[in-house]
Order: sequence, then structure tokens, then C-alpha cells
Amino acid sequence: MSSKATPGSVSLVGAGPGDPDLLTVQAIKAIRRATVLLVDDLVGTGVLRYARRSARTVHVGKRGGCKSTPQAFIHKLMVAEAQRGETVVRLKGGDPFIFGRGGEEAEHLRAAGIAVQVINGISSGLAAATSLGVPWTHRDHAHGVLLVTGHAGEANAELYWPTLGAAAAQGLTLVVYMAMQRLAVVQAGLASTLGADTPAALVQNASTGQERRLLTTLGRLLEDAAASRMRSPAILIIGNVLAACRNLDRSATSAAPGGELQVGCLPGSVT
Ligand code: SAH
Repeated sequence: MSSKATPGSVSLVGAGPGDPDLLTVQAIKAIRRATVLLVDDLVGTGVLRYARRSARTVHVGKRGGCKSTPQAFIHKLMVAEAQRGETVVRLKGGDPFIFGRGGEEAEHLRAAGIAVQVINGISSGLAAATSLGVPWTHRDHAHGVLLVTGHAGEANAELYWPTLGAAAAQGLTLVVYMAMQRLAVVQAGLASTLGADTPAALVQNASTGQERRLLTTLGRLLEDAAASRMRSPAILIIGNVLAACRNLDRSATSAAPGGELQVGCLPGSVT
């Protein structure tokens, strides 16, 4: 089976939120070295410009109409390629260890005796906050951040979201990944412990040319998200720290397709 003399390896590489300029230097070096790239669907296409021409690229994502490649198959593929002596880069959106199953993949590889390296990427939650001009932990508004998935608490939503709401009321900023399909549950669950006027924001396709930002309130989140047709992939941010966003105006740098966009960081505005 082995076709190369040197043992192969797998690097779990964070491709960042989409903009190739947000790759780390380590990530670029790893992509350049790769002989095989296994690419997730949220990886920006510009990132692949650093790959060798001779590298084999396999897209294992689920967007664009294709069904997701089963995780078990990805595990097998990574192991098989490394055992053949390939230098495998597993490119994952954002940071490999923030959701997205990087931890499971690292465990599986280690159990199979494959050398694994993990390379940080800028997580989409961070990029989303920066796009809004929001300092996650501005000391006047917040003293911490909770990174959560919108799918969490499926079994006990009645308890889970109100608890997070209480934490946000105490000055923690909530950053919710994979929130779009569960927006109604999240809003209803938080409403019991957070006021309807608590600032909320959605950032779709953060850092890319298709980026869209909605600033609203918890009470208006569902209707504003629907009215402005916000879609996945998006990050939901909730907390008083969003008030700090009014001090910054990125409108000068934001694209304004079709005159749909409004200036600044006003509640209800999409930029
Ligand atoms: N490891 C990734 C997260 C993977 S989970 C990271 O660190 O960013 C997938 C979720 O990430 C999506 O449902 C969405 O909530 C978020 N996401 C990924 N890329 C995004 C982007 N460019 N803009 C907004 N959200 C994004």
C-alpha cells in the first residue's frame, strides 16, 4: 500500500473565515507543502491559491447542493492518504478546534498512529465581531465571551437558553455559531432572561465579498432577519457590547449593492 518512503502526516489547518488575507503564515506554509488537500465547504476558494499545482484537492463539504461527505469517510480518507505517505492538509473553516469536528478528527488520527499538527485559524465569530467594529470584551460593556452552537441544548432548550441569557445579562457576550436554523428557539429561550431591547447582530459571510451585517435587538431578531433575508453561514452576536459598535462606522468600507444598505450601526440596519 505504501507508495512513499517517508511517513505521511495530517495537518488540521484553520483556513480562517474566508478572506485569504486572514490566513496565518503557518497555514500558508502548510498549504504549500501539501500533496493532498481535503477541503471543507466553508473554506474560501482564494485560500487554495497557495496550493501546489500538483496537489490533489478533494472537496468534502456539503454546500452547493451536494450531500455532506460522511464524517467516517473523511476519517478513513485522512488515514489512508497519510499511510500512503502523503502530506495531507485538512482545511477547515475558521479555527479547526472551534466547532467543525476538528477535535474528533485529531483523536481519530492519533488513535491510528498518524502524526497530527493543528494550525490555528481566525474563527468566523472573531471576524464577525471585527466586521461590526465590536470589541468582544470592551470593558465598559462586557467581561467575557461565550462561544456556543445554536444546536446546543436541543434536549433541554427551556433551561439552556434562559441560562445563557442570564449570563449575557451579567455582561457576557454571546457568540452563536450555526444559529440560523434555530433562530426562533434561541430568541424565545433568551427572551425570558434578557430584555427585548438587548442588542443583537447577525453577520453573514464574514470577511468575504458577500458579507452582510444586520444590527437589531433580541425582540426584533426574527422579523428583521427574515425581512433582510439573512442566511447561513452567519454568526449571531448578542449582548450590550454591541452598543459599542455605534462608536465605529465601517460604512465607508462596506459595499452597498442595490442601494439596499444603510449607513452605520443603527438597530434594524443591514450593511
Ligand atoms: N470552525 C469554524 C466554525 C465551524 S461551524 C470557525 O471557527 O469559524 C460552522 C458555522 O460557522 C456556520 O454555521 C456559521 O455559523 C459559522 N461561519 C463559518 N464561516 C462563516 C463566515 N464566513 N461568516 C459567518 N459565519 C460563519
